[in-house]
Amino acid sequence: MRLLFLDLATVAAVGGALLVPERYRLPVLVAIATLYLVLFVRGVASPRSSLFLPVHWRGSDRTKVALTFDDGPGPETRAILAVLAEHGVKATFFPIGANVKGREDVLRAASAAGHTIGSHSFAHSRLTNFLLSASMTAEVERGVKEVERAIGKRPRLYRPPVGLKSPAVTAAVKRLGLVCVGWARKARDGGAAKPDVATIVSRLVKARGGEILLMHDGVEPGRTGDRTATIAALREAIPLLKARGLALVTVDQLLGEKPYA
Ligand SMILES: [Zn+2]
Repeated sequence: MRLLFLDLATVAAVGGALLVPERYRLPVLVAIATLYLVLFVRGVASPRSSLFLPVHWRGSDRTKVALTFDDGPGPETRAILAVLAEHGVKATFFPIGANVKGREDVLRAASAAGHTIGSHSFAHSRLTNFLLSASMTAEVERGVKEVERAIGKRPRLYRPPVGLKSPAVTAAVKRLGLVCVGWARKARDGGAAKPDVATIVSRLVKARGGEILLMHDGVEPGRTGDRTATIAALREAIPLLKARGLALVTVDQLLGEKPYA
C-alpha cells in the first residue's frame, strides 16, 4: 500500500517534471529517479522502514526495552538463558529453522522460562531475500513450523533475515498472519568485526526507552563464531539498563501483541 503510494507519487512527480523548461527536465528526472531508488532501497534494507509492510522496531512505552537474540539456537543459547535468569529478565528469541534440529530442548527451556520465541526464516540464506512470493511463503512457513514442532506453539513474531523486506516478504507475512519485527539498535555482537565486550556494552546502554535491541545467540548455518563476547556484555549491560529505570520485557509485551497464534 505504501509502495503503491510511493509509485503514484513518483508518476505524479515525473508528470510534473515534463512541465518544467526543457533544459531543466533531465536533471529533475534524474533527481526523481534517485529519490525513488533511495526510498526503495531503504524500504528493503532499513530495519525501521515500513515501506513494504508495517515493521515494528520500537514500542510506545518509554519505560521498557526489549532484548532480542537472532540466529540461534546455538551451543551458547543456554548460557544466555542463564544470564537472563540471573537477572530475572525476559527476552525474545528469533531462531533460524535450520538450527532447531537437535536443539529443540533449548527452545523449550527458553519458552518454559517465559521468554518469547519468534521465527527468523528456515534457511537464513542470503538468497532468501530474493525469493518470489510462493517460495518465500514456503520458506517463512517452514521456519515457523520448525519452532512450532519444538515448542508446541505457533510463533507470530517474524524477523526477516538481515532485516530485509520485499513485496514477497510482505505477501508471506500477510498470508501467514505474522507480525514483522525489526530493531532500533544493534549491539553488533556478531559477524567478522568481533567487537570487544566494552564496545557491545556501550552500544546497548545507549538504548532509549521503547527500543528493540538486536543481539545474537547463534550463528547462521554453515558459519562459525562464538558468543563469548555477547554473554559477557549481556551480564554487564542488563544492570546498567535497569539502573536507568528501563524494564526489560519481551517484544510482544513491548508491542502489546500476541506472541503465538
Ligand atoms: Zn539473522
